[in-house]
Amino acid sequence: MVFSISSHSTLRTQYKQPSNIQSDFQQQINMHILKNSSIVVTPEQCTAQEFIQKKIELLTDEVEPFFAVDLEDVCNKHIRWITSMPRVAPHYAVKCNDDTNVIKLLAHLGACFDCASKGEIKKVMDLGVSADRIIYANPCKQSSYVRYAKEVGVDTMTFDNEQELMKIKQIYPNAKLVLRLVTDDSNAVCRFSMKFGADMNTARRLLEKAQEIDMEITGVSFHCGSGQMTSKAFVDAIQNARVIMNYGQKLGFNMKLLDIGGGFPGNSGTEEYFGEIAVAVNRALDEHFPTEENVRIIAEPGRYYVASAYSLATNVIASREMVDAESGETKYMYYINDGVYGSFNCVLYDHYVPEPCFLPQNESNEKFTSSIWGPTCDGLDCIHTSIQIPKLNIEDWVLWKNMGAYTISAAVQFNGLPFGKPIYFMSKQFWDQIKEAFETPARKARNDNHFIRLNSTDCSNEIDDDELPWIPEDLSEEALVTIQ
Ligand SMILES: *Cc1c(COP(=O)(O)O)cnc(C)c1O
Repeated sequence: MVFSISSHSTLRTQYKQPSNIQSDFQQQINMHILKNSSIVVTPEQCTAQEFIQKKIELLTDEVEPFFAVDLEDVCNKHIRWITSMPRVAPHYAVKCNDDTNVIKLLAHLGACFDCASKGEIKKVMDLGVSADRIIYANPCKQSSYVRYAKEVGVDTMTFDNEQELMKIKQIYPNAKLVLRLVTDDSNAVCRFSMKFGADMNTARRLLEKAQEIDMEITGVSFHCGSGQMTSKAFVDAIQNARVIMNYGQKLGFNMKLLDIGGGFPGNSGTEEYFGEIAVAVNRALDEHFPTEENVRIIAEPGRYYVASAYSLATNVIASREMVDAESGETKYMYYINDGVYGSFNCVLYDHYVPEPCFLPQNESNEKFTSSIWGPTCDGLDCIHTSIQIPKLNIEDWVLWKNMGAYTISAAVQFNGLPFGKPIYFMSKQFWDQIKEAFETPARKARNDNHFIRLNSTDCSNEIDDDELPWIPEDLSEEALVTIQ
């Protein structure tokens, strides 16, 4: 299947319209929820904001925070990836957002996975993903986790120091090691270079040591930092990887894996940056790792896949009006029902500045200096200390876009307060198109419509239909329960 897309909307229109779906649903109600699941099927494609608006209208007395998760957006990200960097097999970094439905969907689309612990490996494998689709990409691993990786056959793992090399040698002598190099991540929002990565000299020494103790080094990896917005870091790192691969090959290692890590932008509006990075990466790969050499190239995107798919809806639970003693200016304090202990932990850990948006009924032209606070009793629980926004009322909804990366995966219920619960949506039309697009000839031959798999990444197993995030009859009408 060859895709060519330039933007979200062209992708949407380029698929052929399935003939009668629209009319089947026309007479019906607005949304359907799959039985035993939090996935909502919309008869037509809609935006997160439209979905949230509808959801709020339908469930008037429920004001707990929730995420509207746009599964189409996740699919579109994957399609964008494989069309922009066809040589690079994505291994989704589970730590970024370990939402089971997203993992399942990505597994179906043919993505592979980057796991950093026993828990993440178990989670992904329990969903039916085979060990050879997983890289254990944590350079410093607890011994018992290395043992676990051996038990379940996850043999590809990263390291960046001699102690780790010796540890793995002892526990898992047949492991295939990937040497993680340090990068210049000074442009990244979240840096890793002070914690992980061998410099060039150390890398050479590690290769020599590995040769001495007869450990297999299968390749080189790096991570340019999370929230990386320049392509130069990738290009430089690919160059360095080439130098180390050459040295390894000189020592006699069969170096056949290059892992270019994560750090690809994922917020809406960053498509162009992503495109620039992709072009630069492709060029650097073609220069340093020409196809003939048969080096397998992988990446570990996390935020890229999920950031824009998640929009958080929060409710204003309380507010205070204050008059500034000095200026006499009226200022407002708003308390919403998710905060930095919950979904907004990204404000602390991911240095994220989330941007509120408002539903039409809240919209007015006049703006006031306001602060926005989470629901806990802790003074630290502040999302914005000072922001110009329209006046809000108690029980108004505030929306936060681009909230999929490093949010729910690190949230806790401090003070007994829940954080955003995901509700997924996808249009029937889109799913049918995706299903058709990712159907393999083999699957078609078996006359089975429910399976999607991508040919261009080399995953080796299939996931059973009943592992689908939706039920096997797929989005057939019997599977839908109307929720209006
Ligand atoms: C966190 C992490 C990733 C994902 O990074 P993103 O910036 O979310 O793409 C990938 N690989 C490793 C080793 C990581 O630690």
